[in-house]
Amino acid sequence: MQPDVLIVGAGIIGAACADALSAQGLRVTVIERDAVGSGATAAGMGHLVAMDDNAAELALSSHSLELWKDLVECQPQRHEYSNCGTIWVAADDEELEAARAKAVTMSAHGLQCDVIGAQELYRLERQLRPGLAGALLVQGDGLVYPPKSARILLARAVARGASLVMGEVVALEQGGVVLSDGSRVSAGQIVLAAGTRCLSLAQDLPLRPKKGHVMITDRYPGFIRHQLVELGYIKSAHASEGESVAFNLQPRPTGQVLIGSSRQFDTVDMAAEPSMMARMLARAAEYTPALAGLNVLRCWTGLRAATPDGLPLIGPDPSRRNVWLATGHEGLGITTSLATAELLAAQMTGSRAGIDMQPYLPSRFGGQGRAYG
Ligand SMILES: Cc1cc2nc3c(=O)[nH]c(=O)nc-3n(C[C@H](O)[C@H](O)[C@H](O)COP(=O)(O)OP(=O)(O)OC[C@H]3O[C@@H](n4cnc5c(N)ncnc54)[C@H](O)[C@@H]3O)c2cc1C
Repeated sequence: MQPDVLIVGAGIIGAACADALSAQGLRVTVIERDAVGSGATAAGMGHLVAMDDNAAELALSSHSLELWKDLVECQPQRHEYSNCGTIWVAADDEELEAARAKAVTMSAHGLQCDVIGAQELYRLERQLRPGLAGALLVQGDGLVYPPKSARILLARAVARGASLVMGEVVALEQGGVVLSDGSRVSAGQIVLAAGTRCLSLAQDLPLRPKKGHVMITDRYPGFIRHQLVELGYIKSAHASEGESVAFNLQPRPTGQVLIGSSRQFDTVDMAAEPSMMARMLARAAEYTPALAGLNVLRCWTGLRAATPDGLPLIGPDPSRRNVWLATGHEGLGITTSLATAELLAAQMTGSRAGIDMQPYLPSRFGGQGRAYG
């Protein structure tokens, strides 16, 4: 029987959409070319983090964090969830001022956060170098293992009757898709949730790949206890050209330390680059000098799908009839996946969403209303 909805991609976004749409009673088929939870989802750090660069980002991330809490509540270990919180490290008084401003915005949104002085900072995290000014501690942030969460979400959809087809979509057409073996799958509606690879199916989408590296160390339980991010990360994350690195460390539940983060535009070469790794390690060791003595086991890369305004595309594709977009989540798609799925389901089925969908509609970038067939 023809599905109501065909989702292209089983990363965290496609899996979350399959979960939300099947929960609304729709017949869902998901098509995945690689493995469930591959793509950027497998590369991501899995930091569930409230980001407040603008009101729409804060609304989406904080609402999604609430949905994550409900999701992981019963079985946190299955998601490898930890409620480690985030410490936004202020190197000097100017950054501490920025931390205070962030605290005002986040507290007004109901997020539990505190500006802490240097003494409290060193009590919480002994590996940080001397001379830092303080930090913003955000209690509600956490982390998951993203590929596992994607598999759990998709399994929930499958338990409601959704199906997973392994194959590569090579073209969209009116009423369905074409796979690489030449076969066709028909559906009433199509959701593009293929990350940066949406561009190979719809070249006009306002997306650019932004490459990132992540490294992981051997096991050093208790080396750090919170996700540690420099406040300068925000500047680096929003650069629209060139290369940047920022101090971003995560304590995995295994005792390993994940080391981020880098950002590079205009490359889709997935090779790990020694020069970027060296810059990331140097930046991390500036903040946590003992890191230089840890054994790094592995490095990998992934491509974030970046939009011009940094907000995702969630809603009808203004250029293609019966095609919906759920992509463009850049470096925040693990966090915002659940709210994305809720917003998409609300638009497709008339169900309720906890936040306004307007800021994320793809039509904000224009579109001609062109149809296939
Ligand atoms: C280095 C790095 C660190 C990150 N850290 C974080 C973090 O700490 N917190 C956070 O919230 N976010 C983070 N992100 C961002 C997050 O990982 C992404 O926003 C998110 O994973 C995007 O998910 P997605 O499902 O849209 O895309 P993807 O995960 O890329 O999934 C797309 C899926 O579609 C499949 N696919 C593609 N083309 C086709 C096709 N033609 N036919 C069939 N299947 C297809 C792919 O195989 C893939 O499985 C990070 C990203 C990177 C790169």
